[in-house]
Amino acid sequence: MAVPKKKISKSRRNMRRSHDSLPSSVHEECPNCGELKRPHHVCEACGQYNGRDVVEAEDAA
Ligand SMILES: [Zn+2]
Repeated sequence: MAVPKKKISKSRRNMRRSHDSLPSSVHEECPNCGELKRPHHVCEACGQYNGRDVVEAEDAA
């Protein structure tokens, strides 16, 4: 079994983890209506994804 040769110091470990945190709000602009939406999700405002209608607009239902 491969074993690390040296113990990773708290400093090194924390340096590695400095990139682990995610921003709390992940959003991008919808290309259709300009509302903020989550990437790779159907737009909540206009119901479009990838330039075509996927679902009816939420407020119409
Ligand atoms: Zn939209």
